[in-house]
Amino acid sequence: MDIKQLDQKYVLPTYVRADVEFVSGKNARLTDAKGKEYIDFTSGIAVVSVGHGNERLTNALCEQAKKLIHISNLYYIAPQAKAAQKIVAASGYDMQCFFGNSGAEANEGAIKIARKYGEKDGVPKRYKIITLDHSFHGRTITTVKATGQESMHNYFGPFPDGFVYAKNINEIESLLDDHTVAVMIELVQGEGGVQPLEKQKVQQLAKLLKQKDILLIVDEVQTGVYRTGKFLASNLYEIEPDIISLAKGVGGGVPVGVVMTSKKGVLGAGDHGSTFGGNFLSTTAICEVIDILQEYEASGALAKGISYFDTVLEQFYKAYEDIFIDKVGIGMMCGLRVKNSETLSAIINNAREAGVMVLKAGRNTLRFLPPLTITNEEIDEGFRALELAVSKL
Ligand SMILES: *Cc1c(COP(=O)(O)O)cnc(C)c1O
Repeated sequence: MDIKQLDQKYVLPTYVRADVEFVSGKNARLTDAKGKEYIDFTSGIAVVSVGHGNERLTNALCEQAKKLIHISNLYYIAPQAKAAQKIVAASGYDMQCFFGNSGAEANEGAIKIARKYGEKDGVPKRYKIITLDHSFHGRTITTVKATGQESMHNYFGPFPDGFVYAKNINEIESLLDDHTVAVMIELVQGEGGVQPLEKQKVQQLAKLLKQKDILLIVDEVQTGVYRTGKFLASNLYEIEPDIISLAKGVGGGVPVGVVMTSKKGVLGAGDHGSTFGGNFLSTTAICEVIDILQEYEASGALAKGISYFDTVLEQFYKAYEDIFIDKVGIGMMCGLRVKNSETLSAIINNAREAGVMVLKAGRNTLRFLPPLTITNEEIDEGFRALELAVSKL
């Protein structure tokens, strides 16, 4: 049986897979089993932040794998402590980290911290968490409920109580009550359609929540680790959240989730845990990814890459104003709104045939999440293929 048949026979059919099998990659370039090359504008959905086949990351992982991969959180784990230090230092916030294995898990941790914070003696029990419509926070039972998309709540109930959805950031204030313990937002909604929130409104919200002792949780699973140009989107928005979750880009492809908080005393021994979380291999990845990207940012290369991508995207957008109705996003997290969803699907399929991988977000957004280390040549090549794809509509 070939891979396609094996997959169809033995893997649960929860994904609609495109008919392509990648076998290797180098930075923003991918090669499939037939030897065809592609430019990757997806980076595995904002995960492969330092590019495919990154030599420094690969070497660091190989060296660590030869020594120890896993020993459990019953003992000290040097790269975990160092990864936490690097994340906290890069963030500029006075926080501590907990390590899990995915974005949903990081958000579970965030929700647990908030719920326990709401149980403090002397005040009425606070447990409600407000999230936004079109948000995306994960696929576990709790994070699916935290996600403000009705279509994701069709099965799997009963769900945990206490999630309230605001239509938009303006509506949040009117939903706050004595039982509200936290507000959880993405600063740029990813899955919902590459939709940045307005900076001034976020700052006003952060101030209001601080006054009311309601926690601000920022889900930076997609926006974190330089995706928007800064280490965190929270840095870009100049706010100080109480809790931040990270995952996707922070491990460069090694599965990892991080929740960090300034409320250091809330979780104590035994309150939370993970067998795999923060092990030698995954936190070695975090350390190396952060080192690589910090140097990349400090050298000015990240800002140049972002600026070049934006320039080429703008030209592309202007050249096809009959197809695209808006250009959205920040940094290396961008999108073009397509006039209808059929055209969007056709573009994505044509693009793959023409040799460039792009994503969909929401109903009508063509989404770009390239590796942060993408070169100008790779950007040019990707857009040439995309022009071919669009010309064939
Ligand atoms: C992808 C994503 C998640 C879920 O992450 P998983 O690693 O798939 O569990 C949560 N929040 C946001 C904003 C995401 O983009």
